[in-house]
Amino acid sequence: MNNFKLNLRVFKFLSSLSPAFFPLLFLRQVLSNLPFFFNLWISAEIVNELVSAESERKIWALVCVALLGNFALSAITAVVRHYENKASTNLTDRHFAAFTKKILSLDYDKIESSEIRDLRRKIEENSYINAYGWEYFVVLTERLLGNVLNIAYSMFLFAEMMILIARFGLNLWVILLCTGIISALILSVFVSRNATKKVSEKRKAVGEIMLDANRYDSGIPAYSAGKDLRIYKLRNVLGNITNHMLKSNIKGFKEVSTATLIHERIPKSATVLLLDALTYLLACYCCIMGAFPLGSVIKYVGYIGRLASNIIDLIILFTEYKINSQYLELYARFFDIKNEMYQGSLSVEKRSDRNFEIEFKNVSFTYPEAAHPAVKNISFKFRVGEKLAIVGMNGSGKTTLIKLLCRLYDPTDGEIIMNDFNIRKYDYRQYLDLFSVVFQDYKLLSFSLGQNVGAGESFDSGKAEAALRGVGFGDRLDELEKGLDTMLYKDFDSDGVEISGGEAQKIALARALYKDAPFVILDEPTAALDPLAEAEIYSRFDSIVGGKTAIYISHRLSSCRLCDRILVLDKGEIVQYGSHEELLEDKTGKYFELWNAQAQYYNA
Ligand code: ADP
Repeated sequence: MNNFKLNLRVFKFLSSLSPAFFPLLFLRQVLSNLPFFFNLWISAEIVNELVSAESERKIWALVCVALLGNFALSAITAVVRHYENKASTNLTDRHFAAFTKKILSLDYDKIESSEIRDLRRKIEENSYINAYGWEYFVVLTERLLGNVLNIAYSMFLFAEMMILIARFGLNLWVILLCTGIISALILSVFVSRNATKKVSEKRKAVGEIMLDANRYDSGIPAYSAGKDLRIYKLRNVLGNITNHMLKSNIKGFKEVSTATLIHERIPKSATVLLLDALTYLLACYCCIMGAFPLGSVIKYVGYIGRLASNIIDLIILFTEYKINSQYLELYARFFDIKNEMYQGSLSVEKRSDRNFEIEFKNVSFTYPEAAHPAVKNISFKFRVGEKLAIVGMNGSGKTTLIKLLCRLYDPTDGEIIMNDFNIRKYDYRQYLDLFSVVFQDYKLLSFSLGQNVGAGESFDSGKAEAALRGVGFGDRLDELEKGLDTMLYKDFDSDGVEISGGEAQKIALARALYKDAPFVILDEPTAALDPLAEAEIYSRFDSIVGGKTAIYISHRLSSCRLCDRILVLDKGEIVQYGSHEELLEDKTGKYFELWNAQAQYYNA
């Protein structure tokens, strides 16, 4: 997409989010630039009247127009600015909502893909650190409007002056001075092109250094990494890197400001001075010759001097648009990501008997960027009400099976069938309602305890409390003064509580119970619990899960014994499937090996 189309697309997108914003921005630019020209014009008129001394009343009238005009302009500008600020806040909020909505609506495999994570990181970093992206597009557009308006006003006055001079009659001096003025304007184009080339290259290089510095810097204060950073003295290593980055940063800034001074500020001032001088000479000469009155000299000199700096700024702006387009391109690419997962429409039966049967048929799956399949040729069936344990060494594909069952990914081969239909055919939202899952890397949010359990802003307090007590969080809940309204963590509330890993795991379990879905899936549900809490959960496991279907991943084989069937995975393949007793009979089997290894460990 070319840069113009890209910027136009961003303009249309932002306009759709806050339709009033750009019209108000335009109006405010017109109003804020008007006083300068109005005052020059009125001053010129007053001086002309003073010189001609024709009518005192007219002079006073002009003074009144000047005062009232300035008052009216600043009052209207203030009102427009007020509405513009509102529209701007709307734009920022709605943009944030649109960006978040896009992230939340992406297929899960897209969120995990390194290419898309990289894209998001670049967009966010460049926006926060270097201020490139859609916000810079708005800043540039505001400046562009100001520039174009100024150039238009100045050109209009320049044309008026030239017409008056031409009417009066040209001579060699006038032609020479006019040629000088046009040459100075052409010179301003060269000055700006040279300035943007030299300065923007430097700015880009410094921008990259700042991004790198930020990446390291953000690792140092990270709350979650605090312990490891201290124990392993990693902060020294990170500190050195950051110092180095900061030094390069300061050096980079110096280089940018020197380049701006040499290539932009000094040539710009010189060009503006040259144009001013030539305009003064021309206007004064023509005034003395009688082409226009004295007051007009003020007007023309004031306007035309501005022309050079506005032309220079306009050309610099176009280069800035070009640089910013590289970042808008990332942004457009992000919004263009299409979901590829098949979205079914079949309604999930709301069965009161919760009678569901799930079958994996020759399912294989390879992660998008992986060389080898994570699971191969998986075939098994289980019915509602059954308790299924999945066991196997780390990396054998247990979590992958769960992700496939929840349709976070679709199988590369084979199919997963629920009640005679491929799970892809079901309406995805309804299908997800069937599962309560506690993933190994579950996350709690910095909201209230009740909101975390109820997974929503409003929740049923009785049900949330019952779920928490059900997983053994009752005593801790009684200690909390604000009960379910206690905020977790201190991100949004200084009275928030810091919870231990075990407590967090109980809350995550309670969230799964609260959802009351027909399938409960627990991936290492007790890893962070102490032995007593773990034993308590297991003793209550049946009452916690009730008549639901439970799929349960654990390294504690003693707890898997309680399940109806056990599926043993090894290197992504099913090597055994049966009850605990059946599996133990095979003395050469993987399950026997795992069981024995743990039994020895516990005996010891
Ligand atoms: P388990 O739960 O049995 O420990 P997983 O299902 O998490 O095993 O992982 C199975 C295999 O898939 C492992 O080799 C792991 O490295 C790989 N894997 C897991 N997640 C991803 C991912 N997002 N991208 C690429 N490979 C992955």
